[in-house]
Amino acid sequence: MADIIQLLPDSVANQIAAGEVIQRPASVVKELVENAIDAGASQIKVNIKDAGRTLIQIIDNGCGMSDTDARMSFERHATSKIRSANDIFAVRTMGFRGEALASIAAIADVELRTREHDKELGTFIHISGSEIITQEPVSCDCGTNFQIKNLFFNVPARRKFLKSNPAELKHIINEIQRIALANPEISISLHHNGSAIYELTGSNKRVRIVSLFGKQINQNLIPIDTGTTLAKISGFIGQPKYSRKTFGEQFFFVNKRFMKHPFFHKAIMQAYEKILPPDSIPSYFIYFDLDPADIDVNIHPTKTEIKFENESMIWQILQASVREALGKFNIVPSIDFDQAGSVDIPMPLHSFDEVNVPEIKIDPTYNPFETKTPTKSYSGTTSNFSQKPFERADTSNWQSLYKGLGKDFPEPDEQPTDEPVQFKIEEQQTAKSSVQFKNKYILTPVKSGLMVIDQKRAHERILYERLMAVLENHEVASQQQLFPETFELNAADATILTSILTDLRALGFDIREFGKNTFIINGTPGVLNTSGPVEIIESLLEEYKNSPVNLQEKARETVAISLAQASAIPYGHMLKPSEINELIDNLFACQTPNFSPKGKKILSIMPLDDFEKLLK
Ligand code: ADP
Ligand code: MG
Repeated sequence: MADIIQLLPDSVANQIAAGEVIQRPASVVKELVENAIDAGASQIKVNIKDAGRTLIQIIDNGCGMSDTDARMSFERHATSKIRSANDIFAVRTMGFRGEALASIAAIADVELRTREHDKELGTFIHISGSEIITQEPVSCDCGTNFQIKNLFFNVPARRKFLKSNPAELKHIINEIQRIALANPEISISLHHNGSAIYELTGSNKRVRIVSLFGKQINQNLIPIDTGTTLAKISGFIGQPKYSRKTFGEQFFFVNKRFMKHPFFHKAIMQAYEKILPPDSIPSYFIYFDLDPADIDVNIHPTKTEIKFENESMIWQILQASVREALGKFNIVPSIDFDQAGSVDIPMPLHSFDEVNVPEIKIDPTYNPFETKTPTKSYSGTTSNFSQKPFERADTSNWQSLYKGLGKDFPEPDEQPTDEPVQFKIEEQQTAKSSVQFKNKYILTPVKSGLMVIDQKRAHERILYERLMAVLENHEVASQQQLFPETFELNAADATILTSILTDLRALGFDIREFGKNTFIINGTPGVLNTSGPVEIIESLLEEYKNSPVNLQEKARETVAISLAQASAIPYGHMLKPSEINELIDNLFACQTPNFSPKGKKILSIMPLDDFEKLLK
């Protein structure tokens, strides 16, 4: 048989390699801006058109390239940053693999203009699909100017996988945020379709954080500064009262490189234990500086995880620093900080009275289960449901409750299925027999055993059906705020919010853009009865971002699901007996009481037999 193995042409090899490095427009932005930083630029301009589909332009005032280097830079494994494998352990540049430009040139149209500071003329190169189209001298500014057009023109599969423009733009904004925070001394601007998203002048960390996240963060930043032989840790943590329900202001950097580090994140969360409002995440901007030999950055090119040689030691130092900073600002009892590194002393809750406790706003009159005018959707759905909106019956009596609903208790043996559970009246049930367990579950005896209801999922289902009814019946009711609330989001979240504003309005939000990344809420959906609209919007964005259902035609449903999740009563919330009953009532008035809007089980029955087995 003839020999069949052949070497792949460079263009094909590069295209395959590109799949690793360049996943989306944001990857191009990241690689090119990092190159500009490695080139010593003090000013970097990023211009984007159509979320990077049409154009990504990066202009820097760095060292520029000679004509030979300009040509070489597009070769695979061509780098000026390392010479031998050993150099990797001392590398302080962002790049060193020499893959990015070769990859980008394999899958796009690239125009490069570059000039060294001591040269009169620069070089122009046009390369497309790894093929040099033009190379000629050009007069241009010193530094480097890359224009990337027609991204993925020869990789249709990639192009198809790109998300909507707001989603892709959000990725770009996130990359710029990370790089801007890591390099506060560098001036960076980001323009999209001609309008400025960021115009950041070089300064210090604090000013950079404020210009990215808004003025209101300033007084909430608590500085951190710890120097040990292993590592220097600096930066800021946010006051507990400033913490939000959404991820987005949590950043770790090591030697000016953004990293994700779930383990270190835990160190911080533990340091904040018991002083955070429920379900919220503190902001932090933490910079580690250490010997490059003590970390391993030679991982997958697009991954942001970094291995530390002395991880557990650094974990301890980090947690102690965060606690110390919180202590200095009187946020936790200072008793914790008498001994350095005393990270394990539990904080007594009752001593909160004596210290400056973070403010947690609680509206004592707020009843999350208060039934707003039940909507039409409950009527005429299936014969199991009452034709009239269910009136609150005497809650001390299960029987009357379920009569009112036209629902009975489950048959013995019956396990929840996709079908709505069939209920049968159980004679001696009383309301008192349902209890809340761990502030998370509701336990209700039924004939065949013990029914366990997940309180949050149950409430999500109830709210979701109400919201969908609003959409279906076009009966938008907005509950006007007494005092309209203005709030500012980071640019990434603002983009998402803008893209779902119409859907939110259809659900009853009266919300408008009010300047750059700022919004004003005048009203909330009547069916929700919310007390903290801004918090709801923040959690909504978080749920929406993490929502897999991202199809365009399901956008409304996704927003409704996210909103239901965001507004549902959280775990850890104690319910009054009347609220427990209300929740159960409303759940079984739903069309699909068994499953949460995201398809998770709401309830299950532990059979009586199991109890007997337990005690054998
Ligand atoms: P790496 O950054 O890993 O070295 P790249 O493919 O990103 O690989 O870049 C290849 C080389 O091109 C770099 O090592 C550098 O010498 C040169 N280069 C890239 N971008 C710039 C720039 N903006 N200014 C000056 N030189 C650059
Ligand atoms: Mg690079």
